[in-house]
Amino acid sequence: MKKIWVSPPHQSGNELKYIQEALDSNYLAPAGPHIEAFEQSLSEYVCVGHAAALSSGTAALHLALKILDVGPGDIVICPTFTFTASANPIVYLGATPVFVDSEMSSWNMCADVLESAVKHYIHRGKKPKAIIGVHIYGMPVRLDEILSISHKYEIPFVEDAAEALGSMYKGRKVGSFGTMSILSFNGNKIITTSGGGAILSDNESFISKAKFLSTQAKDEAPHYQHSEIGYNYRLSNVSAGIGRAQLEVIEERVKQRRSNFQFYQRELKNLPGISFQNEAKHSCSNRWLSCILIDPLVSNGLTRESIRLALLKENIESRPLWKPLHLQRVFKGVSYFGGNISERLFELGLCLPSGSDLSDEDLSRITLLIKLKCP
Ligand SMILES: *Cc1c(COP(=O)(O)O)cnc(C)c1O
Repeated sequence: MKKIWVSPPHQSGNELKYIQEALDSNYLAPAGPHIEAFEQSLSEYVCVGHAAALSSGTAALHLALKILDVGPGDIVICPTFTFTASANPIVYLGATPVFVDSEMSSWNMCADVLESAVKHYIHRGKKPKAIIGVHIYGMPVRLDEILSISHKYEIPFVEDAAEALGSMYKGRKVGSFGTMSILSFNGNKIITTSGGGAILSDNESFISKAKFLSTQAKDEAPHYQHSEIGYNYRLSNVSAGIGRAQLEVIEERVKQRRSNFQFYQRELKNLPGISFQNEAKHSCSNRWLSCILIDPLVSNGLTRESIRLALLKENIESRPLWKPLHLQRVFKGVSYFGGNISERLFELGLCLPSGSDLSDEDLSRITLLIKLKCP
């Protein structure tokens, strides 16, 4: 039985052409024409002024917070229901994360809980230094509400769009809403550079600062001179070439992932106890991952774990949803605002195979197995 992965890389066919160009020009370096061209295409696609291509999404988030002057003693608010990479850079900078629960319909950070967390710290004279918003599994967070909180309390909004390239909110691409926004091109994302990321902003000074910091903070001088600590975070020209080939087909990838979701929804929606991540009004998710919730109280005892194991037995990978960060041992003792929604999502949720290379046959094989498990 052919192995089916949750979200494998999907080549466009043009990668080799760009890699060959990099070889021919000998730009085997974290500098070169593919990097500039990739940044240009990215900023055009997302419709944002400026972009810097970096070695990972995590590096992008690290630099975004660094540029906002986040440091020891500062508080940064982050959703609890996300990948740990959304929060780790807060800790790299010596600042303190504060986690906020999800809302049930979109699974994203709840704006009401966010506002109460912001007020809590303002009352104690500790205004949060930044709010990180994450479009989880590609689903746009409630941008109107969250941006209005960001404006009202004058706290910069950092948009973690790592999972959401191609998603839209009110007709605009996500990744264009933050003071700074970040993308990831890790191997499991909707497009990949075989590992990479980007930081985006309409503010040119932020992006030139990101480029400066990502190349060891070299001052203008013929010799090596530094007045600041920098990082080695630039994307390589070879990787950027792969990124160019991948970005050319992003619209097809979004279409295919959305069609995977529609297939699952059509086939599974009538099974007792199964529900989906809801697209709110004004939102269009890239459906990076198609996920389901299985409520054993309604599904006659069927659980996410029994489905996961049944799929695994047939060589099909699936994954539980993100384990909330406030439950992770590494974040023990970190402040948390909210109830048990993210905990329930983790308990009940499963990410199904969602690659843009899935055939109808693959999708049928998966849904048939799930239906067979249904009592
Ligand atoms: C993948 C991901 C990141 C980190 O991106 P990398 O390129 O893997 O460093 C950050 N946030 C979220 C929500 C992600 O899914």
